[in-house]
Amino acid sequence: MSNGKHNSDATFLDVEYLVSAPGADGISRNTRIEFSAGHVASVGPGITHAGKGLLAMPALVDAHDHVRGLHHLAFGARDQTFEIWRAALYAQPPLDLYCNCALAFGRLAQAGVGSVMHVYSSINVDRMAEDAEIICCAAGDVGIRLALVVPLRDEQTLGYADDEALLALHDPRDRDFIRKTWLYPFPSPETYMQLVADIARRVEGPMVSVQYGPNSPQACSNALLQRVAEASERDGRRVTTHLLETSIQRRWADAKYPQGFVRHLADMGLISPRFAGAHGVWLTRGEIDLIADKGAQVVINASSNLRLRSGIAPVADYIKAGMTFSFGIDSFSIDDDEDAFRELRLGHWLFSQDNSPAPLTRELLFAGWHRNGYLAVNNSNGYGKIAVGAPADVVVLDFDAMAYDLIEGMAEPVEVVLTRATTRHVKGLFVAGREIVRDGKVLGVDLEMIEAEVVKMARAQGDRMRSLKPILERSQQTLRTFYDRL
Ligand SMILES: [Zn+2]
Repeated sequence: MSNGKHNSDATFLDVEYLVSAPGADGISRNTRIEFSAGHVASVGPGITHAGKGLLAMPALVDAHDHVRGLHHLAFGARDQTFEIWRAALYAQPPLDLYCNCALAFGRLAQAGVGSVMHVYSSINVDRMAEDAEIICCAAGDVGIRLALVVPLRDEQTLGYADDEALLALHDPRDRDFIRKTWLYPFPSPETYMQLVADIARRVEGPMVSVQYGPNSPQACSNALLQRVAEASERDGRRVTTHLLETSIQRRWADAKYPQGFVRHLADMGLISPRFAGAHGVWLTRGEIDLIADKGAQVVINASSNLRLRSGIAPVADYIKAGMTFSFGIDSFSIDDDEDAFRELRLGHWLFSQDNSPAPLTRELLFAGWHRNGYLAVNNSNGYGKIAVGAPADVVVLDFDAMAYDLIEGMAEPVEVVLTRATTRHVKGLFVAGREIVRDGKVLGVDLEMIEAEVVKMARAQGDRMRSLKPILERSQQTLRTFYDRL
């Protein structure tokens, strides 16, 4: 790849095609981009042929993810209705946290992602601060920007009902095991707030921010949600929660809050410009208007919603309401491989149809993958254009490989990216000016070795996993019957 170093912190990159702000700006040819101190220092004419066949654009942002190096299918959590699938998470094999995270961060970097939101989902509250340091270490070694969302929950671990009531519906053979291994005592809201402050003290910095992560409103008491709203107002940290992902959640919310679920969250102060709700598939038009009115955003997870049978988000309503939205992979990319460009293409296809009353334009699509996602992850405005002073987060694509059969002048470069770009076309990635992927390889960690290690660790637990399988399947059957009646 044509790039080089001037000195220790100044680098440059030559490309044939610069798409400085896809969907908004035009294309410049034969350009040199210089980086210094984490930012773009200059954009100007380059040497013809120096970056031949390369295309640069701002790195993508994955605004909702769970950073699972070992994919769900590996431990038997097959795709199905979200509420039933979710039970399988309790049976996932314990893995080395650093390796599991470095693997996922590395794959995302290979896919052209410069910033990721990690919605962490451990139930080990006493280990959370140490875990946070390990997760940030993995992100730092890969070189990706990170929002670490601290998991907060104090209700309804097993499903959308009181845990004891749900446990009583389970097979008597399994109740003790489930109580001992899946349930745990919840900390108080006060303890949770101290935990977030402690983690922030330990890990926050130029590449890492910490967020409040009420897992989902159905898993949190009003007291906890209220504390989160107050704390976020006070310290400016962002809040991320899963929000009306499924039709079952919609039914639960309507039964519990007939006066309006999102209205209830807003009345507690939770919905603010610092708020991002993931999924939002089952939001009503009125709720979307309310979220827009509060200046909050929703993170669309299109592949995840297909794989977990949640549906298709009402993005035309988002657009009509002028609501801000971004995109996430949610550890559920369409081919189970963290391919961010495929996720971008899927959103483009699903929401930009000619017959949509408010189609997703290219400008809105890329605003989601750039500006709005960057705000959701890094709590910072203005990302999305490669220009002097902007964060030096740039993905470099092998344009010639994508355009192998193109007749000159018959297709715009952005059209080619939207139609064909995948992880295998990502040649390079710069984040804060640091080159973290070169010729498709992650530079900071040995990804192949880490992947082999994670798979080995998981398979070593095969006997235990296979012995848990019947318990899990019985629990899933119990949940299926329970939700059919909800
Ligand atoms: Zn999620």
